Amino acid sequence: MKFDTIIIGSGLAGLTAGIKLAENGQRCAIVSRGQSALHFSSGSLDLLSALPDGSPVQEPEAALESLAEQAPQHPYNLMGKESVLAFAAESEQLLARAGIPMTGHYRQNHLRITPLGKQRASWLSPPEVPQAPLPWQKVTVINIAGFLDFQAELVAGSLSSSGCAAHVAELTLPVLDVLRNNPSEFRAVNIARVLDLPENRRALIDELRLLLGRGEAMILPACLGLEGDTLSALEHALNVPVKLLPTLPPSVPGMRLHAVLRRRFQSLGGLIMPGDTVTGAQLEQGCISALFTKNHREVPLRTRNVILASGSFFSGGLEADRQHVFEPIFGLGVEAPEERTSWSKADFFAPQPWLQFGVKVNARLQPFHQGEYTKNLYAIGSVLGSFDPIQQGCGAGVSMLTALFAADSILTTAEVHHEPAR
Ligand SMILES: Cc1cc2nc3c(=O)[nH]c(=O)nc-3n(C[C@H](O)[C@H](O)[C@H](O)COP(=O)(O)OP(=O)(O)OC[C@H]3O[C@@H](n4cnc5c(N)ncnc54)[C@H](O)[C@@H]3O)c2cc1C
Repeated sequence: MKFDTIIIGSGLAGLTAGIKLAENGQRCAIVSRGQSALHFSSGSLDLLSALPDGSPVQEPEAALESLAEQAPQHPYNLMGKESVLAFAAESEQLLARAGIPMTGHYRQNHLRITPLGKQRASWLSPPEVPQAPLPWQKVTVINIAGFLDFQAELVAGSLSSSGCAAHVAELTLPVLDVLRNNPSEFRAVNIARVLDLPENRRALIDELRLLLGRGEAMILPACLGLEGDTLSALEHALNVPVKLLPTLPPSVPGMRLHAVLRRRFQSLGGLIMPGDTVTGAQLEQGCISALFTKNHREVPLRTRNVILASGSFFSGGLEADRQHVFEPIFGLGVEAPEERTSWSKADFFAPQPWLQFGVKVNARLQPFHQGEYTKNLYAIGSVLGSFDPIQQGCGAGVSMLTALFAADSILTTAEVHHEPAR
C-alpha cells in the first residue's frame, strides 16, 4: 500500500489534516488506535480563551502579541500571527464544508454556558449550546430521572443567580427504564440512542410539553441528537428554543463531531484504519519511507509524508515512566523538565506543568530526533508542547490550526517537487 500521506491518530488534529489533504487530491490514510479526546470533549472548540498570565481573551487576534511575549514556544507563535488568523478562518470553512454547523467567529470569543451553568469563553459552539447572556427571562432545565452525569439544580442555580429565572423539572419517560435499571448503562450516549429513535419521539414530546411550564426555552442535558433531527423536531413541537448542555463523558456532541469529520474524510477517498497502532518506521536518506503497524505486522505502509497526530498522555501520544517523558513511536525529543517534582503542582486547580509537555518542533512543525529533524515528518495537535489547553483554552485551535499548517507545508512541498498528488 502506498500513500501520499499517512496520519497517525484520528482525533481533531488528524482528521482536520486528512480532510484538507484529501480535498486537495492526496491519497491519505489515517491509522488510529482508539478513541480520541473528542469523545470526551464538550463539542465546543476553543481558540484562545486566556493568556498564560490568566488575563481573559475576548479577541484572539489582539492577544497574539502578548501570547508571543508570555509563551514564545507556543504553537501559535511558531506558526506566526498571519498563519494563525488564516488557518482559523480556514478551519471554520472546513467545518462548514463538512456539514458541521457552528456558531462563533475567530475574531471574537463567545461565552458558552457550561454543564455547571457557568460561563466559559470559546471560539465555536454547536448552535444548540446556550450562550450568555441568555435572551430569556424564564427557562426550564430538564433533569432525567436517575441520570447522574448532569446536575440540573446546579445549572438552574447558576442561571438564576445570573438573572434568568430557571426551574428544574424531571423527565421520567418509561422507555428509559431498561437503561435506568443498570446505572453503568445510564449514560448520555446510551440515552441518546433511545431518545433519537423515531418511535419514542411522541412520548418524549408529550412529557416535555407537560414539563415546560412557563419556560420560554428549555435546557436539556446533551442526551439526544447523536443521529438524526431529534432536536429540531422537539423545537418544532414545543414551539420554544431547546438547548443542550454537555454532560460528563462520553460526550454526545463530541462523538457527533468526530463521526461527521470521519465521514467527510472517507467521502473524499480517505482510508481509516481503526483499531490499529503504529509501532515504528523505516528510514531512507533522512526520510520516513514506510510505517509499520500492529495489524499489518511486517507489511510496510509506504508513504511520502507522515503526520504525527497521536495526542497527549490522554491518548498515548506521550508516555512517562518515573524518570522520563517520552514519545513512544519514534522516540522524538520531548520538552519536559528532568526534575520529576516539577512535573505537577500540588494545588489541583493550578495550571499543571505536565499539560505543556510535548514534542519539540521547528517552525515548520517538524519534530526532532536526536537533534535532527526528519524532512517528511510533521507533528500536530496535542502531541505538541508549550501550551496549556485548559488554562489557555486553546486545545481545539492548536489541533486544527497546526493540522492545516502542516497539510499546507506538505501540499506546497509536493508542488515545488512537482510530485503528482496521486
Ligand atoms: C478529556 C478531554 C476533553 C477536552 N475537551 C475539549 C473541549 O471541549 N474543547 C477544546 O477546545 N479542547 C478540548 N480538549 C483539548 C483537546 O486536546 C483538543 O481539543 C483536541 O481534541 C486534541 O486532538 P488531537 O487530535 O491532537 O489528539 P487526540 O484527540 O488525543 O487524538 C489522538 C489520536 O491518536 C491515536 N493514537 C495514539 N497513539 C497512536 C499510535 N501509536 N498509533 C495509532 N494511533 C495512535 C489515539 O488513539 C487518538 O485517536 C480536551 C482534551 C481532553 C483530554
